[in-house]
Amino acid sequence: MVLELTKFYHNEDADLTVLKNKLIAVIGYGNQGRAQALNMRDSSLNVIIGNIKDSYWELAKNDGFDVYPIKEAASKGDILFLLIPDEVMPQVYENEIQSKLSEGKVLNFASGYNIAFGLIKPPKSIDVVMLAPRMIGKFVRELFVKGEGFPSFIAVENDASGKAKEIVLALAKAIGSTRAGVLEVTMAQEAYMDLFSEQGTGPIIGRTLMAAFQIQVDAGLPPEAVLVELYMSGELGLVFQTFAETGIAGQMGLHSQTSQYGSISRSLTLNIDPIVEHLQKVFEDIRNGDFAEEWRKEQEAGYPKFKELTELSKLNPLAPYEKKVIEGLRNKPEE
Ligand code: NDP
Repeated sequence: MVLELTKFYHNEDADLTVLKNKLIAVIGYGNQGRAQALNMRDSSLNVIIGNIKDSYWELAKNDGFDVYPIKEAASKGDILFLLIPDEVMPQVYENEIQSKLSEGKVLNFASGYNIAFGLIKPPKSIDVVMLAPRMIGKFVRELFVKGEGFPSFIAVENDASGKAKEIVLALAKAIGSTRAGVLEVTMAQEAYMDLFSEQGTGPIIGRTLMAAFQIQVDAGLPPEAVLVELYMSGELGLVFQTFAETGIAGQMGLHSQTSQYGSISRSLTLNIDPIVEHLQKVFEDIRNGDFAEEWRKEQEAGYPKFKELTELSKLNPLAPYEKKVIEGLRNKPEE
């Protein structure tokens, strides 16, 4: 079954007046927290910050915000943005936020994870929404300052006020996202898609590049040159950028006929079945909650496997050659 997308929401679909006289408490002044707080303040909203007293607290102070301990910010704010890492969120929610969720408040997430897998269960008396930028925090801010936008997913998980969708659309406008376009999904859908990119598509691209490197180096080709050809010239990144601008088929015209013939013919004879089978399994583990449960247990145990995996990933055989290429290529103008 293929669902039809209903609509991309833009500036004209959102009205900031629904946020008038509302105090927004951004909990967590990290990647997303800082960018979204600065953008909302520039959109004339009232924003305070909740954080632990450390360097992020100082940064928020230096940026001119009123900063409070998390519990106090959660108590003061009408709309709470939970912008701390997903894995620490359930505990912070339970200890510092839950008791402050009086009727009429709005709880906003930037990721569907904790709601999708039942790790946070907010009361029915509040609005629960999601505003999830499809953009890293640095660019959430930089694009906003340039007058440009970036896509986001929005969701309404619980609509106690009857205005939750208006509110989340207005928030999307305030951070600059409706300038580009906003799509409505559910929080579970957002979590599945996000995890699938990380666990399905990403590793296949990464492992394929590593295998392609090995095949060519084993055949006697120079490793640094192989890396430049594969991805370190930046061309591959620009090809992916062009996928976004013109579509996969649309960008074909930018390549030579030899390239087009070779790539289409070999793509059509590729045995995709084992890859599809693998991806189906990855997707099922995400959707049935097995991955979330595995990760929860891993956290509970103090991250033993994660530590092992992080060490393993440092043994990447490409790393010394990548270092040489990074040192060898000069992409910046001479000073
Ligand atoms: P960060 O890792 O940048 O968050 C850091 C913030 O969380 C800091 O303010 C930090 O404060 C606080 N924090 C960390 N640990 C704790 C703790 N135990 N208790 C209280 N506060 C803590 O997070 P992101 O901005 O990357 O992610 C925030 C949300 O945005 C997540 O839901 C994520 O999925 C979502 N998201 C992230 C994107 C991204 O580009 N990174 C893109 C889209 C969505 P301190 O260090 O002072 O403890």
